[in-house]
Amino acid sequence: MKRTKDISILASHLRAGGLVAFPTETVYGLGADARDDNAVAAIYAAKGRPQFNPLIVHVDRFETAQKYGVFSETATRLANHFWPGPLTLVLPRVENCPISLLASAGLDSLAIRVPAHPLAQELLMQYGGPLVAPSANPSGQISPTKASHVVAGLGDKVDYVLDGGDCAVGVESTIVSCLGDVPVILRHGGLVRGDIEQVLGFEIFDGADAPSAPSAPGQLTSHYAPSATMRLNATSLQDGEALLGFGDIGPLQPKISLNLSPKGDLQQAAANLFAMMTRLDEMLDEGDVKKIAVSPIPNHGLGEAINDRLNRAAAPRSRREGSDQKSSGQDK
Ligand code: AMP
Ligand code: MG
Repeated sequence: MKRTKDISILASHLRAGGLVAFPTETVYGLGADARDDNAVAAIYAAKGRPQFNPLIVHVDRFETAQKYGVFSETATRLANHFWPGPLTLVLPRVENCPISLLASAGLDSLAIRVPAHPLAQELLMQYGGPLVAPSANPSGQISPTKASHVVAGLGDKVDYVLDGGDCAVGVESTIVSCLGDVPVILRHGGLVRGDIEQVLGFEIFDGADAPSAPSAPGQLTSHYAPSATMRLNATSLQDGEALLGFGDIGPLQPKISLNLSPKGDLQQAAANLFAMMTRLDEMLDEGDVKKIAVSPIPNHGLGEAINDRLNRAAAPRSRREGSDQKSSGQDK
């Protein structure tokens, strides 16, 4: 990994679908174009996370954020007061939202913020697009607050780090969900609750102690799961099944099928996963096929996260509820 202060190099690397680590006021983030499924899949691969947790989209300003998320009155007030800064808002995705479904981990919502760090601002402006940026460390390790931490953790998995010295805040952003009738704090972070309440003029519920509020971020919205029944590790096809394939599907001759990666590449499969589950479901809506067989996916590297998601999608409805993102607090 090269350390650099040359933002134009980083912007062109991002344009080519690459990853760059950069400082924000909270911690160093690992950035990629938030609209590019492949680049987002490369982030999960570099971090080595066994699950697809939703990532935070970073944009240069409020007006840009409005292109991707639906702002309620409360969300608008919070954005106006605290952006740029360490506040992430969870919002409904706008219709036909161009942000990668993989970045939202299949949710119909979006986490978004405007970072205050001048170098992050400069990068976002020169790049001119939205960046997802989870902390720039291998999954399960401590979030980096210096460029040297990023180099030590991710080494040759990432090409560039924008060296901006130490991060001023040093803890992650506070996450507030604006999906329901009342805002709910999903994660405590750099912006304290009292400051938020002062602006709102009322007490804000903590996701953990609100009487009727869900206790984990993922419980607020349901993860995307096809309405069709899914059968995993399928090496043959039963009557009336569509196929979500991976690699060479051999002699199988499904009437309806999509292939996550004909060449058997896990990163490509991760990039296609949510979009193809959605597309297959739409294709099935039109016909009478209501079952999806899924080819076996090797359970290493990104395969672990893909299988985790497929297992949830295949589980009976009652088991899906509340089973999302149990470990979301652990990795930034
Ligand atoms: P970070 O690791 O700082 O990028 O933060 C990612 C965390 O933001 C996730 O683990 C979730 O807890 C939260 N998050 C991101 N997107 C959403 C969303 N759409 N709904 C709820 N929580 C979200
Ligand atoms: Mg982290």
